Amino acid sequence: MTSPVWHPFTQHGLNEPIPHVVRAQGATLHLADGSTLIDAISSWWVTTHGHCHPRIAAAIAQQASQLDQLIFAAYTHEPAEEVARGLIAMAPRADGQPALAHVFYSDSGSTAVEVALKMALGYWHNLALDGLAEARSRILVLDHSYHGDTIGTMSIGERGVYNAAWQPLLFDVGTIPFPAPGHEQACLAALAAACAEKPAAFIVEPLLLGAGGMLLYSPDILREMAAICRRHDVLFIADEVMTGWGRTGTLFACEQAGVVPDIMAVAKGITGGAIPLAATLATAPIFDAHLSTDRARLFYHSSSYTANAIACAAAAANLAIWREEDVLGRIATLADGIATRLGILAAHPAFANPRQLGTIAAIDLVAADAGYLSDLAPRLRAFFLERGLLLRPLGNTIYLMPPYCLDADQLDRLFAALAEAGDSFG
Ligand code: PLP
Repeated sequence: MTSPVWHPFTQHGLNEPIPHVVRAQGATLHLADGSTLIDAISSWWVTTHGHCHPRIAAAIAQQASQLDQLIFAAYTHEPAEEVARGLIAMAPRADGQPALAHVFYSDSGSTAVEVALKMALGYWHNLALDGLAEARSRILVLDHSYHGDTIGTMSIGERGVYNAAWQPLLFDVGTIPFPAPGHEQACLAALAAACAEKPAAFIVEPLLLGAGGMLLYSPDILREMAAICRRHDVLFIADEVMTGWGRTGTLFACEQAGVVPDIMAVAKGITGGAIPLAATLATAPIFDAHLSTDRARLFYHSSSYTANAIACAAAAANLAIWREEDVLGRIATLADGIATRLGILAAHPAFANPRQLGTIAAIDLVAADAGYLSDLAPRLRAFFLERGLLLRPLGNTIYLMPPYCLDADQLDRLFAALAEAGDSFG
């Protein structure tokens, strides 16, 4: 019987295999047929500590029988309060003091970014009501960015075949060239020129464009971008949905540049990847622009499950793991293990552009046809699946984003399969 399930980013007409997973532990997925897979991309970059972490699972179980779900408009619960306090304490600081002082919950990376955009526009709108500024609506983005799949977040992402059907709905943005090596000054000059025209905000994936191809840029450039925005009074939004929770070697990527954004979106690893939750953190001026006795100025955004108590309990357990365990030590060990093996793989003639930031590593397969619609990535997926690995290359870019519990044997298996892919596809 064919399944009625319609999968995301899946062309059902190609009849690709759809593995049926029944159980998961750490970095291992157990399939219905009894075989196993190494989850080398943390199930779409979310299961930071590995699957079914006992502390997170226990917190979910406990919360599920105490308070499951609560309307969050003018009601609250302790898990949401605890996580908000924790996020504020852990987020990038200004002069050692917490700067991102307000936390708005949502349930996915896309909605966290949508909320960030709405906050930015709401900020300018409300200042304009008081005659303190002109209303602003333009958003600046880096070329090749990805911020989600809702209409708003597609608008600020790379345009292509994956959003062609909705082009008429996407709003206009200002695109800044990506600071590829040798093009950093062109990027900064374009940003300064675009900022002079008074956009509402500039949004970036700090240090690393993820879905856009695992493209890196330096902390110096990130710092300079933030400074340009500051000079021109343009809000600086950091989308830490992928880079947050230790992925780049620090808890948040912005830390590496000493940058404190005006608004920061976090999701994915906020619950250790066990259950959906997201948060958008904002500085006092953003919150204060919505603070009034006038109901017209409140922040008009919600969803039924905003700050779901079970998800917040999972996030509280994740924050406790971060506070009490040496997560950064585990990340450093894994990053070292990746670096050694990536250095060896880089000598393989089938590969080019090895790059790594923390536990994220990528390398390009120098293959003839590597466009988004080529069948290279699906063929690579199938190749890795046959070798017991969950990997999902982006075009000709093969990347790893494993859970921090991945061990040396699993890393060896992973890199052996990458070298074999070089032999077969090079
Ligand atoms: N922003 C970035 C940088 C992402 O990488 C992603 C997802 O990969 C998103 C936003 C969207 O997150 P979600 O898939 O949870 O909606």
